[in-house]
Amino acid sequence: MEPKKHHRVIIIGSGPAGDTAALYAARANLEPLVISGDQPGGQLTITTDVENYPGFPDGIMGPEMMDLFRKQAERFGTKFLYKMVTEVDLSVRPFRLVAQNEELTADALIIASGASAKLLGLESESLLMGYGVSACATCDGFFYKDKHVIVVGGGDTAMEEASFLTKFASRVTIVHRRDELRASKIMQERAMKNEKIDFLWNRTVEEVLGEQETGVTGVMLKDTVSGEVSEFKCDGMFLGIGHKPNTDLFVGQLELDGHGYLQTEKGTTKTAIPGVFAAGDVQDSIYRQAVTAAGSGCMAAIDAEHYLASLEFESA
Ligand SMILES: Cc1cc2nc3c(=O)[nH]c(=O)nc-3n(C[C@H](O)[C@H](O)[C@H](O)COP(=O)(O)OP(=O)(O)OC[C@H]3O[C@@H](n4cnc5c(N)ncnc54)[C@H](O)[C@@H]3O)c2cc1C
Repeated sequence: MEPKKHHRVIIIGSGPAGDTAALYAARANLEPLVISGDQPGGQLTITTDVENYPGFPDGIMGPEMMDLFRKQAERFGTKFLYKMVTEVDLSVRPFRLVAQNEELTADALIIASGASAKLLGLESESLLMGYGVSACATCDGFFYKDKHVIVVGGGDTAMEEASFLTKFASRVTIVHRRDELRASKIMQERAMKNEKIDFLWNRTVEEVLGEQETGVTGVMLKDTVSGEVSEFKCDGMFLGIGHKPNTDLFVGQLELDGHGYLQTEKGTTKTAIPGVFAAGDVQDSIYRQAVTAAGSGCMAAIDAEHYLASLEFESA
């Protein structure tokens, strides 16, 4: 283990929330350290065009946008550590963190570790992510005008994604591995009443067909009853099987909701532990957008700055 290093503010995560928190904290002279995790730049690094982030009228590629976020935070003195946080102890002051072989302490901590869309785990799915495979209808639905897409899943997320996609797509097929849905009654009814939505029951996606140049051309579906595998033509695949917030590190230390999202005081980014703040998708199961993540990252930096100022005032 390397000797302990102390920082006034440590930010866990380098997605839109973490990098925006870093930008604001750096401009407030707090010399923040961002621990970037194993996905520097966050979820947007696995997508292609981002067309709904204000300020880019022609759109921008996700990885390029996150490179700009990092550069802007670095310009004001943010330091990045390209490691995973493997341990945190929020019961001591300063807070103690371990990032692989490095031990660090911080007076204030901003958690922006995000969430990960649940995927099927197929090689073809990750190869075509952003090229016809998506985990976000709000983000990518617009690209599927008059196309036929499938939505994988049977819960509320899948029904919501499917209903939203009918604004653009000519046809939306929900592919579900069972013969009944898990979604709430109202969401089921809404999807079933929608003329553009149809259902394929007892099917799992075995492979996504297509190339990055052509996009998705279809999927191989397995009938879970007969075992038969057959090709199904479509222009895109949306995953609607939920998200997992990256909060395993905080179990038992911070309050989580039933789905594992960090809980914050309404209208702020404060957790129940003074000096620990949460921003972005890790505490937001509803909006899950880059702009909302960035907005709450800004709030977290301001909350952290006020907290540190109050500590200084008390000790003066
Ligand atoms: C395919 C796809 C396309 C999308 N397209 C759009 C779009 O067009 N427009 C839009 O607004 N939104 C889009 N989104 C949603 C958007 O990406 C998220 O809302 C946003 O990235 C959330 O930002 P965040 O900073 O909260 O977390 P994330 O972007 O999830 O970043 C989390 C960060 O935490 C780090 N981390 C996690 N665990 C640890 C740890 N233990 N130690 C250190 N670091 C850790 C990760 O490495 C990562 O850097 C898309 C999402 C996906 C998956």
